[in-house]
Amino acid sequence: MAFVTIDACQGCGACLLTCPTHAIRPVAGGLTVRADRCTGCLECLEICPVDAIRVVEPDPCKGAR
Ligand code: SF4
Ligand code: SF4
Repeated sequence: MAFVTIDACQGCGACLLTCPTHAIRPVAGGLTVRADRCTGCLECLEICPVDAIRVVEPDPCKGAR
């Protein structure tokens, strides 16, 4: 499953309100995405006005051990 990461965030807050699983959380200096909650729906990516959200593919070996 793909999940997302955030950089170059302008702090508008739109993605926090949009995420259906509340995977996006404020942290010191910006936002973080909880991979265990992100379903890869990409609603946050579509709503971000500055294209700060990117899709990343998790390591396929991660969690298999
Ligand atoms: S891809 Fe969907 S579930 Fe994941 S952080 Fe964005 S809005 Fe939330
Ligand atoms: S929608 Fe984009 S600019 Fe707005 S808070 Fe989320 S990542 Fe930051």
